[in-house]
Amino acid sequence: MSVPKTRSKTHMAIPERRGRSALARLVSQRGLMRGNLLERRRVCGKANCRCARGELHAGLYLVFSEGGKLRQLFVPKSWESRVRLWVQDYHEVRRLLEEVSRLYVEKLRQRED
Ligand SMILES: [Zn+2]
Repeated sequence: MSVPKTRSKTHMAIPERRGRSALARLVSQRGLMRGNLLERRRVCGKANCRCARGELHAGLYLVFSEGGKLRQLFVPKSWESRVRLWVQDYHEVRRLLEEVSRLYVEKLRQRED
């Protein structure tokens, strides 16, 4: 005996559910930061510092666009680990959003409710 196939509107395919719950977790529990991290070597400007003799300081910067302009924001050492996580999570959220969106584009393509 075959059971008639019922498909409720709330039915979600496994990849969709997985994508959505990973998204919800990231958005609700973690910090997010749009941008890319760039390591730059620089001089601090003090005349007798080692950087004046060519031993440059390594500094981490967040590079991001704001109001159509590219900005760079210095990331202090004490902020580095959390900023790295926030940037990483932002990229992951973008990737998951793209994944969920692709599923919906496919639904439209297949005319699937
Ligand atoms: Zn210096």
